Amino acid sequence: MKALFLGSGTSVGVPVIGCGCEVCRSTDPHNRRLRSSVLITTDSTSLLIDFGPDLRAQALRHNITAVDAVLCTHEHLDHVAGFDDLRAFCWAREELLPIYAGGQCVERLKTMYPWAFEPGGYRGYVRAHGICHHGREFRVGDIMVQPVPVMHSSVETYGYALRAGSSSFGYVPDVKEMPPASRELLSGLDALALDGLCFPQHRTHLCIDENIALMHELAPKRGIVTHIGHRVEHHALEDYLPDFMQPAFDGLELEL
Ligand SMILES: [Zn+2]
Ligand SMILES: [Zn+2]
Ligand SMILES: [Zn+2]
Repeated sequence: MKALFLGSGTSVGVPVIGCGCEVCRSTDPHNRRLRSSVLITTDSTSLLIDFGPDLRAQALRHNITAVDAVLCTHEHLDHVAGFDDLRAFCWAREELLPIYAGGQCVERLKTMYPWAFEPGGYRGYVRAHGICHHGREFRVGDIMVQPVPVMHSSVETYGYALRAGSSSFGYVPDVKEMPPASRELLSGLDALALDGLCFPQHRTHLCIDENIALMHELAPKRGIVTHIGHRVEHHALEDYLPDFMQPAFDGLELEL
């Protein structure tokens, strides 16, 4: 199983429009972050997690032409605003594109893009099968997907623990707190990517130190900080993190 980070930035991306801070002015590609999203692939299956406003640029950059299913963490626009660009993954397929999300998020997607969920669909448009997973484990191709409920703002939010063969990967881009049962689902993975928005405390996101503390508890072989804001410089964060951890960057690919 491989995990390709298509984007590693927070909701506004980095650089931030109109900001002249050191990170926003940086020409280092590690400091240029599209909105957070990840592509998981095995020899036979590909899964996209989240479809933010940068999906088109991300698909073109990495030549992503098809996905078997889409998982959604929650309804915030930095995770679902690229819905319209999912069309490109629908034109060649006979079946509806499965979009797995929590119940609240499925309902919200149906309100935002009702034409995509109408019986028979809309010619040339996303023909979406919105599937509410209620936290239960399910299979897509050869990947087992375990949704992991987490707390992040007032919106129902999930992370995902994925297993294929002997490899495992966890992805939780937006989280402030995690109930004990969810911590169990994310313990001891080969790699785990967790929200790490900024150094100061934040109301709805883990800060870097909270991320590190949770990583020590969940003990993945590799810990990755993602959904990073513009106040965090890539190499400074790299130096700050313990040895088993690293910052995500756009284009980071993990072989699991
Ligand atoms: Zn977000
Ligand atoms: Zn800035
Ligand atoms: Zn969010």
